[in-house]
Amino acid sequence: MVFVKDGETVVPGEPLCIQEEFSPGENAALDSRGRVIAKVLGTVSYDKSKRIVDVRPLKTPQLIKVGDQVLAQVRSIQDKIVVVTILSVGDRALKHPKAAIIVPGRGMKEEMKDVVGVGDLVVAQVITQFMGIIGLSIWKPNLGVVLGICDKCLNALTRTRAGLICPKCGEKHKRKIVPFYGNMERIASMLEVMPS
Ligand SMILES: [Zn+2]
Repeated sequence: MVFVKDGETVVPGEPLCIQEEFSPGENAALDSRGRVIAKVLGTVSYDKSKRIVDVRPLKTPQLIKVGDQVLAQVRSIQDKIVVVTILSVGDRALKHPKAAIIVPGRGMKEEMKDVVGVGDLVVAQVITQFMGIIGLSIWKPNLGVVLGICDKCLNALTRTRAGLICPKCGEKHKRKIVPFYGNMERIASMLEVMPS
């Protein structure tokens, strides 16, 4: 007995056939009732000569998990809420950038606008994922702004002994920066698109 047609999409755990028909091949397994089930989301492929059934994995969208390090761009700052767009996860650029928020640090005294600025690139860590809202932290020393943008003239801010300064208008800016602030090579490597 075959439950699913050749080429159909199946989800993990879905019965494909009974083991008398086909043996489990790649990404397939036997369950306790003698049925071959799918182990991954994919398409079913029956090999009639070898009597084996494989499941070819579908390319799944990149998932973002708690603990992941991300590169994000600041979109807006309202009081204590910073809205960002995640551009890459674990140094892999996202095909579809995703919105997230930066969660204020515990006992934080500075205002958010003295920590990040609109347009800045930040390295952050995913700390919560609740009802589809991704919460990020930038409070560890290796997290924070990697490239600051002047809110007046949109220039990249230069790191000097006196702090971050806009090379065009001379305005000083407060940010929580990472040790490798302004390292364009490092920033570019975080946006690398991996061949799929
Ligand atoms: Zn400026």
